[in-house]
Amino acid sequence: MASPELPRYTLPMPSGRNHGILIAGGGISGSLAALAMARLRPEVPILLVGEEAGFGGNRTLLLFDDDLDEAGRDFIAPLTAESWDGYYVAFPGRSRKIRLRCHAITPDRIDSAVREGLRPDQYRTGEKIVGARDQSLLLNGSETIAGVGVLDARAWVHQTTLELGWRKSVARLFRFEAPHRVDRPVLIDTTVTADNAFFSCIPLSADALMVEYIEHSVSPDLDHAAGAARIDEYLKARGWKGREYEREESAVLPVALGGDFGAYWRIGGARVAKLGARGGFFHPTSGSPLPDAIDTALLLTRQRDFAGAALHDCFESHAAALWKRREYLRGFNRLLFRAGSLPHTALDGLYGLDPAVIARFQAGEPGLFDRNKINAATGR
Ligand SMILES: Cc1cc2nc3c(=O)[nH]c(=O)nc-3n(C[C@H](O)[C@H](O)[C@H](O)COP(=O)(O)OP(=O)(O)OC[C@H]3O[C@@H](n4cnc5c(N)ncnc54)[C@H](O)[C@@H]3O)c2cc1C
Repeated sequence: MASPELPRYTLPMPSGRNHGILIAGGGISGSLAALAMARLRPEVPILLVGEEAGFGGNRTLLLFDDDLDEAGRDFIAPLTAESWDGYYVAFPGRSRKIRLRCHAITPDRIDSAVREGLRPDQYRTGEKIVGARDQSLLLNGSETIAGVGVLDARAWVHQTTLELGWRKSVARLFRFEAPHRVDRPVLIDTTVTADNAFFSCIPLSADALMVEYIEHSVSPDLDHAAGAARIDEYLKARGWKGREYEREESAVLPVALGGDFGAYWRIGGARVAKLGARGGFFHPTSGSPLPDAIDTALLLTRQRDFAGAALHDCFESHAAALWKRREYLRGFNRLLFRAGSLPHTALDGLYGLDPAVIARFQAGEPGLFDRNKINAATGR
């Protein structure tokens, strides 16, 4: 899959105890960056260091095909558990099939891809990183790993200079005795919730269904038990007699409202390159880290200079440009969060639009014409 257009590594090859590019954090963004380098720039030494036993985080994420270009589609193919030609949305009194292709990316697929794509000397698990500098990582046992450059992908930092709302969810994977007959994802189902919460379903096979309870609020605190109870109510309302669930996932995803992005980037190391949530790479409205993780992984493979300072400048300017381009979506979020949550009426209006407009909204870059349509449909 190596592309002839990609630059070759031109810095002197690191030697001795220098490990090349050090990627801190084996979640979604760190794993995808390592995977892209191993596949597309195999001549560049890398080391992926994570504290968990597995790679790829712990959440199943939906990805919209319109967010991807050809290189992105190629890249995610081995990470894809299932693909569909569209999805459903269901609001009281009306449901709709939206013909926009989407994929389910699962942590187990990412984990297998990393283990198959990287040599064993290119990754380390079970290592807590206590410090990241532009060319080295400090591990808990006080070992220092030296490299050419560092990419810090250890998810979010506790302090933030960003103004955020939150998309919080609890999801359970059920395996039913009979086929559930959900033939494509249900992105939003508000038909059984009177409040501003909603449900989502991802059919991972004929008898396996991931059911997710989602709520938006101004607080990141997630009430797990309450979310699980809402899932039980939903199963009952749908008439699905499930067995015990096989797996539970939860997420607290940021919804960007505003804030000082330059200061956010500098938290935790002014000259250290950052990926994923730590670098502000997340979709402003859905909070998903996945589209940006694919984009930044492929951006990394196009670099010629992997020194820490060069990586920092590359990813800082990319993050800042994305933040600027996404101001419309933050404004959209601010208005929707006026009441402290995301109203069903706004979702109903948005998903009643032409699929092409929805696709550009999902990709984070609606044009002027789209914005007028979205504003009118959502009551902005
Ligand atoms: C400001 C902000 C606040 C957020 N707050 C929350 C929150 O409160 N709760 C929540 O669930 N989500 C939160 N998120 C969202 C969450 O971080 C992202 O959705 C998502 O996981 C980002 O993908 P990622 O690749 O950056 O991180 P992940 O996919 O989460 O991967 C990070 C990886 O780094 C590893 N790691 C972390 N620290 C170390 C370490 N010291 N040593 C070694 N490895 C390490 C983790 O084990 C994990 O594998 C927040 C995001 C932002 C931007």
